[in-house]
Amino acid sequence: MTVSVLPQSPSAFSKATWDDVAPYFDELATRPIDRSTIEGWLRAWSTLEELVTEAAARAMIAYTIETSDPTKEADHLRFSTEILPRMEERSVELARRLVDSGYATPALKTTLDRFRTQIEIFRDANVPIFAELEEHSARYQRITGSITVEWDGAELPLPQLQPFLKSPDRIIRERAFRASSRPYIDRRDQLAALFDKMYRLRMRAARNAGFANFRDYIFPAKFRFDYTPADCERFHQAVETAVAPAVERVLEARRQRLGLEVLRPWDLAVDPYRGKALRPFADAAEFGGKARRVFERLDPSLGSKFQVMLEEGLLDLESRKGKAPGGYCETLHFSGRPFIFMNAVGLVDDVMTLLHEAGHAFHAFAAHEQPLIWQRHPGSEAAELASMSMELLAAPHLLQPTGYFAPEDAQSAWLEHLEDILLSLVHIASVDAFQTWIYTSGQGGDADARDAAWLRLRARFERGVDWSGLGGERVARWYRQLHIFMYPFYYIEYGIAQVGALQVWRNSLDDPARAVARYRDALSLGAVRSLPEIYRTAGARLTFDVEGIRELVDLVEQEINRVREGLKE
Ligand SMILES: [Zn+2]
Repeated sequence: MTVSVLPQSPSAFSKATWDDVAPYFDELATRPIDRSTIEGWLRAWSTLEELVTEAAARAMIAYTIETSDPTKEADHLRFSTEILPRMEERSVELARRLVDSGYATPALKTTLDRFRTQIEIFRDANVPIFAELEEHSARYQRITGSITVEWDGAELPLPQLQPFLKSPDRIIRERAFRASSRPYIDRRDQLAALFDKMYRLRMRAARNAGFANFRDYIFPAKFRFDYTPADCERFHQAVETAVAPAVERVLEARRQRLGLEVLRPWDLAVDPYRGKALRPFADAAEFGGKARRVFERLDPSLGSKFQVMLEEGLLDLESRKGKAPGGYCETLHFSGRPFIFMNAVGLVDDVMTLLHEAGHAFHAFAAHEQPLIWQRHPGSEAAELASMSMELLAAPHLLQPTGYFAPEDAQSAWLEHLEDILLSLVHIASVDAFQTWIYTSGQGGDADARDAAWLRLRARFERGVDWSGLGGERVARWYRQLHIFMYPFYYIEYGIAQVGALQVWRNSLDDPARAVARYRDALSLGAVRSLPEIYRTAGARLTFDVEGIRELVDLVEQEINRVREGLKE
């Protein structure tokens, strides 16, 4: 079989099995390479990976849009459990050829560093382990995607309870809070058993690769070259010292404003100034259309990129029964296009989520200018810098008539966002500390010890809320955190990036145009520079220390107080 000519489009692989893909890798593995042909060989390999990963991404998108369709599930599973793990195996083989050839250019330096690391930690024995983990991930998605709650006689998917968590009526809020925790409390044993299996497989994969535990494995596996587990622990400490007390102050002001004895977990989402929840848009068309105008005002070239997404149908925004929970932005590497998936129900949080995912989308567009697939996607620390900075950079442009909010509503949405930033930092620190505990304590395989450790860490980081009598609900929270199941250790990145994004925002207060220009410069670097250099280009530095974090938290708190004063009048 001659396979030297690659397919013209990813659709050629949409129903492919591994046997259809393998010959292309065989050809690349055996084609003679030398100084004069290696660049062509690299381009062919890159294009092959673009085609296959785009076919896989399209299958994943189709499945998450309709998790109940068995054909879509089968297509997605074929890619995620059969094709991609084997492709990774063959890619490591090709990476070895490249590294052995001695070919190197400055633009390939970060790629070669990653390849060397991948080669070092790769083990044949781990290929079936990671494939099995993908199956368990799909099972987690199936269990959580099928959850509905009976609410006033209707069956609602969980995201649709969000508006009730914001109700001015405390009884309704409490009912919504309990109803959204209940399915996870009921499925606790099932999910804990699933996690037990994932834990064992991950620890085995780490040991196969010569590491003492999965935490030590994940640092090289996620190419965390510029910070260490000790830096992460410094980060936890800094959040405990500088952020947790700020959150306590913010929640105390909320308690007073709401006129409550104590804050319960169902009192955290209601808008204490405007009473009822803001409804910034009525449907997906208005939601997306306004986003385009917001980006247009921020920067015309970003607006035109978003317009492309609208025109090409690269958005699925509204919550519907059968959709997987959560939101993501997936890159289609061959087309050079992003796709945004969300579960919007018409709230302020949805606007923030769309700004976030659009930041990822702009990153995908900008990075696609880099010629090879490996030169485009930097680590999540840089990816989340793109998305979280966008939440803050776009904030001044959310006003009607182009945007979503009347002036006083914009202030209250901004306050909500600033408070969320502080609350999310303590959540991030507790999730990262929890995963560290799971994979390093030796007790991570014990379901009861896990729940107890989660409660201890929540008590350490999350203050100002009265959880008495809600132990089950508090435990249920981690079972809802899909990253812990599906993307282990993918969480501290949000914290690192949030601290970076706050620096980009601080710069924008002095010179908004320059802050956006630096942001775009950083995005266009793709993955060809180191993480500290990408941050520097964006106008930020990687920060784990309490002083650096405290400075930014102070700035956020000042802004919170300023907005609050305005809202009181
Ligand atoms: Zn993100």
